[in-house]
Amino acid sequence: MGGTFDPIHHGHLVAASEVAAQFHLDEVVFVPTGQPWQKSDKKVSPAEDRYLMTVIATAENPQFSVSRIDIDRGGATYTTDTLRDLRRLNPETDLFFITGADALGQILTWRDTEELFSLAHFIGVTRPGHTLADPGLPEGGVSFVEVPALAISSTDCRTRVAKGDPVWYLVPDGVVRYIDKRELYRGD
Ligand code: ATP
Ligand code: MG
Repeated sequence: MGGTFDPIHHGHLVAASEVAAQFHLDEVVFVPTGQPWQKSDKKVSPAEDRYLMTVIATAENPQFSVSRIDIDRGGATYTTDTLRDLRRLNPETDLFFITGADALGQILTWRDTEELFSLAHFIGVTRPGHTLADPGLPEGGVSFVEVPALAISSTDCRTRVAKGDPVWYLVPDGVVRYIDKRELYRGD
């Protein structure tokens, strides 16, 4: 599951858990992006903070792990590179790329779309306020999964912290404490 995870929240975790159950996945690997190119105009927290919050949020679940591949590669993150690297590290593994419905909508704007669909099966998770639509997606390459609706976004979490509003129960407790400790999102 790729994402900026700035910060990771319960919407991400529920989506991962639901897809893992429905597709009988052995493991969900959370892959925080390096510098996300779709968001290059926006300020994104340091990769190390986003990585550590993702580790904190997933540490208790034996089925969840976190990969540094996109962070350590440096530069802008392209999903093709992520999947190529994961394929190289796990040659015998069937890969599923979990992403939000909103991100899947943009899928045709990604680089190397054809190669993408040969590297992994794409799973778009629904989220409140985003409709699923793109007739141009190749048949068989994409599945959609409805996850229990959680109207949580990282943007809303950052705005809340900036305003001094609570993010308890929107993100895992350890992430609330990490945000506080590192004074993230204060100046937004
Ligand atoms: P931002 O508000 O900064 O864009 P975000 O909440 O969308 O952050 P991302 O890190 O961009 O979080 O999300 C990674 C993926 O998880 C995206 O593809 C997104 O659509 C999906 N996602 C995020 N929040 C939810 C949610 N509440 N339910 C289902 N999917 C979600
Ligand atoms: Mg988003």
